Amino acid sequence: AKRQGGGSYTFYSPEMNTWSRDRLKMESALRAALQNREFELHYQPQIDIRSGRLVGLEALIRWRRADGELIRPDAFIPAAEESGLIRGIGDWVIREATSQAARWKSEGLLPVPLAVNVSAQQCSDMNVVDTIRSALEDSGVAPAMLKIELTESTAMHDAERVAELLSSIDRLGVGVAVDDFGTGYSSLSLLKRFPISELKIDKSFVHDITSDADDAAIVRGTIALAHSLGMTVVAEGVETQAQLRFLARHRCNIAQGLLSSPPLPADEVRNWLEASAP
Ligand code: C2E
Ligand code: CA
Ligand code: CA
Ligand code: CA
Repeated sequence: AKRQGGGSYTFYSPEMNTWSRDRLKMESALRAALQNREFELHYQPQIDIRSGRLVGLEALIRWRRADGELIRPDAFIPAAEESGLIRGIGDWVIREATSQAARWKSEGLLPVPLAVNVSAQQCSDMNVVDTIRSALEDSGVAPAMLKIELTESTAMHDAERVAELLSSIDRLGVGVAVDDFGTGYSSLSLLKRFPISELKIDKSFVHDITSDADDAAIVRGTIALAHSLGMTVVAEGVETQAQLRFLARHRCNIAQGLLSSPPLPADEVRNWLEASAP
């Protein structure tokens, strides 16, 4: 779209017209959603495979529309990234997760680390580090109770800058996980150069591990690689006992998926936290 005088737009084609208008509508809806506090975090349990105990929670954003409809992130995160609104939304996610951790702590519930997803756009400068630092300070939550999940593509954007960013996060005492491992285009040397504590195997590899020899080999290899680098491995999208058995046999550390629990609203996570209290 080309901007004309008077703030109106011209479009090259009717399709473009519809597309651009939808996008603008989505952007203003997202901006309003942030203002009106329509986002919420759900938390998915992460289970230590050996002991069966809860060892973490991944925070996953949802958009609760005024009419009650719950919208999944795949439907709005891409638009938030394109429009730059992901920065404001991402800051909210970090603040909300640390506030929730503080609320659970004040209720005397066993603390487990919360993992939050961070987009590449949030990593284009050091602001996210300031957000993390001040969210920890304001909430009084220990840095070890927060983890950052980044995808490989993030790391590839600008390796030097991301190295600096991850070092700063590491210095805060906050762990970094590589998300969707194997789906991006990372060089394995990134794993060596960056302070990364955890690899998350994408659910697309986990889905067929018991039937597809290639997927099984990739998962086995990823676990071995991670362990030889001193990292913890989380398998995403674990849905069946057979998948869990395979992962246990190959010494995967942590399972996350529908077999244990879907992502839950904060008040439903309380049961998990109470159950895992010593
Ligand atoms: P992800 O980080 O790879 O998160 C895992 C996704 O798998 C989640 O989808 C989760 O609900 C889903 N899942 C969990 N267990 C299973 C299972 O057993 N089987 C299958 N098939 N799926 C399972 P969700 O919540 O819709 O999130 C989708 C993606 O949106 C996330 O993928 C992440 O990339 C992004 N996202 C979510 N929350 C945030 C956020 O706060 N900030 C940013 N930047 N991105 C987010
Ligand atoms: Ca994730
Ligand atoms: Ca994934
Ligand atoms: Ca992802």
